[in-house]
Amino acid sequence: MKSLSPFTHNKYIPHDYCGRILKSGCSDNLKGTLLFFLEANYKFDLCGCPSMPYIAAWRQNGRDIWYEYVSQGLLNLLRCDIAHASEVFRSSLRERRIYKRRPARKEIYEEIVTAHEIQRGRQRLRGQGIQQGQLEALYKLTPPLGNTIWLKDLATIKRFPKDDINLSVGCLTDVTKEMEQKELLEKIGYFDELTKLPKRKILEQILEVNFGHFQRGHIKDFSFLMLDIDHFKRINDQYGHLAGDHVLASLAELMNDITRKEERVGRYGGEEFYAVSMGDLHSGRKFAERLRQKIARTPFDYHGVTILVTVSIGVASASELETCEQEPLVRKADRRLYAAKKMGRNRVIWTDET
Ligand code: GH3
Ligand code: MG
Ligand code: MG
Repeated sequence: MKSLSPFTHNKYIPHDYCGRILKSGCSDNLKGTLLFFLEANYKFDLCGCPSMPYIAAWRQNGRDIWYEYVSQGLLNLLRCDIAHASEVFRSSLRERRIYKRRPARKEIYEEIVTAHEIQRGRQRLRGQGIQQGQLEALYKLTPPLGNTIWLKDLATIKRFPKDDINLSVGCLTDVTKEMEQKELLEKIGYFDELTKLPKRKILEQILEVNFGHFQRGHIKDFSFLMLDIDHFKRINDQYGHLAGDHVLASLAELMNDITRKEERVGRYGGEEFYAVSMGDLHSGRKFAERLRQKIARTPFDYHGVTILVTVSIGVASASELETCEQEPLVRKADRRLYAAKKMGRNRVIWTDET
């Protein structure tokens, strides 16, 4: 106990300290560092900030993980005291998500691990955190007697090899509202799996809202684009279906990249896409040209093979219609798309005079 003496009377050791390290024969280095963090967390908590700091610890090959500090906010959410926090957290855990950036495709990749898989891969997940020195994750928890909550975890992993102890010094934020919204979108199938663009049924909602604004005079006009990849079947035939999928996903990403705030793109089905633009036929046509030219100029790379793609686009606008209905608008754009195909493809058609 001698080595503890400089720290035992530190006023920031919570009176309900339930950790193990300060009471153990660990090194002064570890105890001193932990006390520093405890003091910082304790003061942070006193500020009343809604973020919830914590300090977790585990041994390299040990099975259990325990808390050295848990914010009162987290204890309230878990509905337990600090002595049971680790156990309650573990038994409440239903899902863990992490988000990684895939540099090659600039997109964010989401990895979802279920509670069952977490139990099996606990050691691997901790190992990943140690390697990176950082831990970033989202947890879905259903505490006993409580509602489901989502917590975002940002932590730094500190290693103390001499003591065979790792500390995770982190902060949890309640992101339940945001994740409930995301889950709802996932449940109703808002986004298409392959292209990550809004699906066709979302188009119906977009058009309904736009027609509403148009009829009430809130907007003067809006335009609708039907876009179809030229000779896409040949891409599948020549390079394989997976290459075709890759082109669809890359093309969707490209369209998304060049789409402005007042424009929307989605997947209509197969190799057909839709787009909606706030503005008249002329601005819809310009948007379509921007899409067409960018796509024609962008070579898609699939495992070292360069694939070139062109698209045909039909454009129609709400002010051209006799009735404010979705079906005639889509039909008009579709007819013009068909005309673009007949005229040789890789072009935009916005009138019926062809
Ligand atoms: P056109 O210029 O007249 O539009 O010719 P096309 O070959 O693009 O049109 P067609 O309708 O003959 O063929 C469309 C092809 O798109 C057939 C279908 O297998 C393919 N396709 C549809 N959905 C997918 C998909 O999700 N992935 C892949 N790889 N291919 C798809
Ligand atoms: Mg087609
Ligand atoms: Mg096609």
